[in-house]
Amino acid sequence: MRLRLQVIGCPRRALALLDAPRPDCPDCHGEGGVHHDYGDETGEYAGTHWYPCDCSTPWCVVLLPLPRLPHMPRHRAHSDPWSDEPPF
Ligand SMILES: [Zn+2]
Repeated sequence: MRLRLQVIGCPRRALALLDAPRPDCPDCHGEGGVHHDYGDETGEYAGTHWYPCDCSTPWCVVLLPLPRLPHMPRHRAHSDPWSDEPPF
């Protein structure tokens, strides 16, 4: 198990600890799963299955729920100590 931190957005923004796939995995080559195209009864392409690889698990722990970002005004003159404008 290789742990990585990632900000996830579903169902809400949060900092989560995920299990990362092995970058040198011979099965998924670090993608964490294997694509497999399948067809319908006529042999036409009908979709792609995604099989998760054994080198990673869909394990996820939410460490810190992140609040929605409030719309902050970008211009805050009183908080800039290096402003070129004289204070008087
Ligand atoms: Zn793998």
